Amino acid sequence: MDLKPIARTDPEVAGWIAREEERLSLTLEMIASENVVSEAVLAATGSVLTNKYAEGYPGRRYYGGCRFVDEVERLAIERARELFGVEYANVQPHSGTQANMAVILSLLQPGDRIMGMSLDSGGHLSHGARANFSGRLFENHPYTVDRKSERLDYDAIARLAAEVKPKLIICGASAYPRIIDFARFREIADGVGACLMADIAHIAGLVIAGLHPSPVGQAHFVTSTTHKTMRGPRGGLILSDRKHGQMLDRMIFPGIQGGPLMHVIAAKAVSLHEALQPAFKDYQRQIVRNCRVLAESLLEKGFRLVTGGTDNHLVLIDLTNRRLTGRQAEDRLEATGISCNKNMIPFDPLDPKTTSGLRLGTPAITSRGMKEPEMRLIAGLIDRVLREPAAVKPETIRREVEDLCRKFPLPVS
Ligand SMILES: *Cc1c(COP(=O)(O)O)cnc(C)c1O
Repeated sequence: MDLKPIARTDPEVAGWIAREEERLSLTLEMIASENVVSEAVLAATGSVLTNKYAEGYPGRRYYGGCRFVDEVERLAIERARELFGVEYANVQPHSGTQANMAVILSLLQPGDRIMGMSLDSGGHLSHGARANFSGRLFENHPYTVDRKSERLDYDAIARLAAEVKPKLIICGASAYPRIIDFARFREIADGVGACLMADIAHIAGLVIAGLHPSPVGQAHFVTSTTHKTMRGPRGGLILSDRKHGQMLDRMIFPGIQGGPLMHVIAAKAVSLHEALQPAFKDYQRQIVRNCRVLAESLLEKGFRLVTGGTDNHLVLIDLTNRRLTGRQAEDRLEATGISCNKNMIPFDPLDPKTTSGLRLGTPAITSRGMKEPEMRLIAGLIDRVLREPAAVKPETIRREVEDLCRKFPLPVS
């Protein structure tokens, strides 16, 4: 990226951005929720559209001068509808959490009952966690995975729903390595007269490529982020039927947001265009293949994986048999240039700042062009870093990581 205009005005910030570019280029980015956008998406995010106020929706704005940004937002909406096969899309949510907030506040009154996946089972904060608006305003009765299989236990969820009688069931996850059965969730919701919201923030790219069943036609409302496997700018998205459109539009604006981020919406449009190309499906297939090989290689090294493996873009390591906490493992890997995050495992005895698990994902390293051989190599590096007692110096691994990164340069086109 051309940092000269920033450097002329503000050398301090330009300096830190340059350092961040260098960090990214020499780091194996394995945070499962992160990715690397194309130069086209990056340029749209940095465009003059950041100057424009456009409260409202295309053709019905509260400000003048919206002729061209209207076209941009129309394109984003049309492409989202085509890509997911839905009647209605709202591309204005500033984030995934805002998308969820709009759906939840549209449907419920404070104090109403909801059912979301518990955090330690892999759910997201905005699915009813106590620290979040969704848990503060609503009475959440979280469901968990099965203790033994560590997979969603749909019979248990159905029993809980019959007992709780929630108005809304939320499915979708941030740290669940397996396929989610949206059709079964719909059956459960129908059984108790609840609405179903499917949050595909993590797996949107996989859904687009047909590598994970789509919730469209099953869930009444589908929400997503655009910056995870979808590889767009940081932001959110709501998909639904035409009949819910007016209610959702109004809840996003003026309900919970002000002016839309038109530069980000332009970048969403560009990334949706990219996602409509055949190459995007190849990319998603490679993410999943890479993750499967990463999982197999980690298992060969003696790691225990939650659920024993993966169907998607992420794996969750249970570090208990390595006598390490998630925090220790994350710190150690960080020192060698492997970026990932500590994560709770199901029924984790440790708190969220410590944790017994580590989450690893393949979307970002796959964007750089890495394939199966690199996954085997990376599993070997992770194994050496997380051996106890620590046998190798971090600098030794760091050099190997940087050599690997140099073979797959950034930015990606
Ligand atoms: C990442 C994520 C979100 C929220 O994304 P933000 O843009 O950070 O608000 C919501 N739901 C799920 C399941 C996620 O994984």
